[in-house]
Amino acid sequence: MRPLIAIPCQGNLRSRYPRFCAGKRYCYALHLAGAAPVLLPLHSDHSALLEMMSRLDGLLLSGGGDVAPHRFGETQAVPLRSVDPPRDEMELWLVRQAVECDLPLLAICRGIQVLNVALGGTLYQDIKIQLPEALRHDLSGDYPRTHRGHALQVAPESRLGRILGCNTLDVNSFHHQCLKQVAPGMQVTARAPDGVIEGVELADGRFMIGVQWHPEDLIDTDFRMRNLFEAFVEAAEMRSVANSPRHRLA
Ligand code: MN
Repeated sequence: MRPLIAIPCQGNLRSRYPRFCAGKRYCYALHLAGAAPVLLPLHSDHSALLEMMSRLDGLLLSGGGDVAPHRFGETQAVPLRSVDPPRDEMELWLVRQAVECDLPLLAICRGIQVLNVALGGTLYQDIKIQLPEALRHDLSGDYPRTHRGHALQVAPESRLGRILGCNTLDVNSFHHQCLKQVAPGMQVTARAPDGVIEGVELADGRFMIGVQWHPEDLIDTDFRMRNLFEAFVEAAEMRSVANSPRHRLA
């Protein structure tokens, strides 16, 4: 049975008809790796969310707008992009629950930032303004999604390093924020040449991985990116077999 992996939607689209949506590439990548992706509408009914989580085998946090600075104890210092308060609220809560109940988690782009903030870390609100010496990390608009904007150094002994099977690689880059203080219990697994954090994971060995680039846009040409989704789906499968009554009944 394919493991169920949920992707929280975004809800701040400008439309006369309110709607939730999610990027197709995340669904495609999960499906290709053997999972059954499901989209989560945004709401704050914790008992309903807990019930839903008890049926999930994994959680994928996707890209999107900025996390509101008050979530990590700061006031707004730069122009922010597409803040989505209900999404912040639900995703931050989901991450803490995922850690609590040992649900495998892959957090991409905005996702790595949500993961870090949820566990007590902070963010640079804008790389260009607050880290003026850094490379250009926000290449959205000017380049295709497969464009490899900068290199990465990957910690070889990390879970991410073992999955990717390499110490250096080039990745795409479509973010204007990045991690500042890393949350307690997390370890840095990848950095750009300018020192910007591009990967973190929970140091206790569970599958809680965040990446700042977009592996879902690179899976068609790069087996290492497919490996990342396959490792995630495998962790979800193992949890599903171990924990789920619906599998014991099947
Ligand atoms: Mn980058």
